[in-house]
Amino acid sequence: MIVTVRAAAEPREVQTALAGLGLWVSRQEPAPGSEGPVLFSVSPHSRAVSPAEIQALPGVAAVSVSKSPYPRLEAMPRVAKVGRHEIGVGAPPALIAGPCSVDSEERIEAIAQRLARMGVRFLRGGAFKPRTSPYSFQGHGEVALRWMRHAARRHGLAVVTEVMGVEEQEVVAEFADLIQIGSRNMQNYSLLKSVAGLGQPMLLKRGMAATLDEWQGAAEYCLLHGAPFVVFCERGIRNFDPHTRNLLDLSAVAILAHVHRLPVIADPSHAAGRRDLIAPLARGALAVGAHGIMVETHPEPALALSDGPQAILPDELEKLVESLS
Ligand code: PEP
Ligand code: MN
Repeated sequence: MIVTVRAAAEPREVQTALAGLGLWVSRQEPAPGSEGPVLFSVSPHSRAVSPAEIQALPGVAAVSVSKSPYPRLEAMPRVAKVGRHEIGVGAPPALIAGPCSVDSEERIEAIAQRLARMGVRFLRGGAFKPRTSPYSFQGHGEVALRWMRHAARRHGLAVVTEVMGVEEQEVVAEFADLIQIGSRNMQNYSLLKSVAGLGQPMLLKRGMAATLDEWQGAAEYCLLHGAPFVVFCERGIRNFDPHTRNLLDLSAVAILAHVHRLPVIADPSHAAGRRDLIAPLARGALAVGAHGIMVETHPEPALALSDGPQAILPDELEKLVESLS
């Protein structure tokens, strides 16, 4: 946003008035020798203020707002049906839970049954796993999708699962209600375009070093290429402090929820990486405006095929769910 100062006004007074509205600005002088006006450009880390409010300040000649680079995101519906349940702005908080990876048919059935009883409506679980080491468990693939779909159907849950490559997108789309793009693929534009073309709702996890603009740009790709709806998922960004695996960026959640009014959920499991912080971070995320949470749970975390140390027990999840109502 650029604010133009009236020729007769005192720029310093305008700057003070802008600061009074919560705006950080940098002043641009007219070119030497020119008669042009003083301009202030408003930094993105300013409070969200309507141009009309700025225009009303004494000494302001004009306010110019650049067109949104994300027109489809602006026009996107804020809430959508995913399976039989709603997710987004105005819907009840979406509780998404399940194991990091689907480890067996019996286990996913038992977890789905438990989740449904405690009021969780979305079942997560990885069949195609993005693992840092190529020697780690890579997911059971298609058969895991079938196990998860059957369990979800039996218990009235919607399925949330990740697609990692275009070669598996058809089979993931067949079994998923909400197709997850993982953090590592947030800027894999070929994958975004291709998966978006399937026409299903997408869950877009934030890249671990992605800015809000890059994240919104990635969502715009999905919408432009055919996705009807995108839910943002804050999962923690790279952090210098080793006491958490990543840093849960609640400011980003608040900006998406309150400034852009976009659907956003938080994943405290991958953010903190430690089970003792899941409940407080989940509550914190909802308190700042998240429209849901995604939590990894496993009845025997020690035996989980991936991310056991951050999984909470179903009993602990149930306590968290109860504390939210
Ligand atoms: C996941 O949710 O299973 C996952 C791998 O998360 P992320 O992409 O955020 O690391
Ligand atoms: Mn995981």
